[in-house]
Amino acid sequence: MQNKPNENINDSPPTSLNSDASVPLVSLHTHTDLSRCAKPDMTFEAAVAFAIEHGYHTLAFSDHVHPAEIIDWPAHAQRLRQYKSLRDEANWPVRVLIGGEFEVQSKGAMVECDEILEICEYTVVAPNHYHVAWVDCVGTTCAEVAAHELDCFETALNWPHTNILAHPYVGKIQKPEHEPNGMWEATDKGRVKALIELAKERGVALEIQPAFWYHPKRAGRIAELIDLWLDGGGLVSLGSDAHTLATLHIWAERYGEIIERFNLCPEKVWLPPFIDKGKKR
Ligand SMILES: [Zn+2]
Ligand SMILES: [Zn+2]
Repeated sequence: MQNKPNENINDSPPTSLNSDASVPLVSLHTHTDLSRCAKPDMTFEAAVAFAIEHGYHTLAFSDHVHPAEIIDWPAHAQRLRQYKSLRDEANWPVRVLIGGEFEVQSKGAMVECDEILEICEYTVVAPNHYHVAWVDCVGTTCAEVAAHELDCFETALNWPHTNILAHPYVGKIQKPEHEPNGMWEATDKGRVKALIELAKERGVALEIQPAFWYHPKRAGRIAELIDLWLDGGGLVSLGSDAHTLATLHIWAERYGEIIERFNLCPEKVWLPPFIDKGKKR
């Protein structure tokens, strides 16, 4: 584990992460109390302090970017700028990145905000926020929901700003037909293979996160999707989706299991580009 100050890390070429064979401890999907669903203890400063204490290599923030009727876009953008200046003024021994979790609203449609996008150093895209009123939830069988989910994968993959496809098949379960194992069972695997090719072309990574890993009975079969993705040469991304400090703690404790299960090495894992301080994305 490298624990260099931010400045040195940012000046190093990405290959420096490959100096040993292990995957650095990262969370590339992390919320702060800027997200409405995060807990009050999850402030930007507290999360960074926690990551430093627990030996994180990279902590990347991806607060929810919802439609303008739901959140105040200029205020959100302003808070991200504050996070960036705090980061740029500090010399933390953890790499901190500021991004956003954008969402697919319906097949072919993204929730977009240029002002926020311009600030983001990377993006996570949620294809399956079916639990919120402004996101389309299509289908009455597992097969129909799964087909819709793949439409949303495709929408995310075709959006030019997407870096990471978040929590595949493990949006919040609203109905029996959203059950991840059932959806996976009913999925057209040929179409998944075609989408892996598109993801490779676009350089988009598929996220591995606790929503499936901690709930094997409900969602364990999503490991088959990750295996298929890796076998097809796609990249994966590691994100805790932490909304509390406790989740960041559990993620650090259980990270090794995930690395081991999928036999991950740095070459299979997407890591954010190295950012020059003071520069936009
Ligand atoms: Zn999400
Ligand atoms: Zn999230």
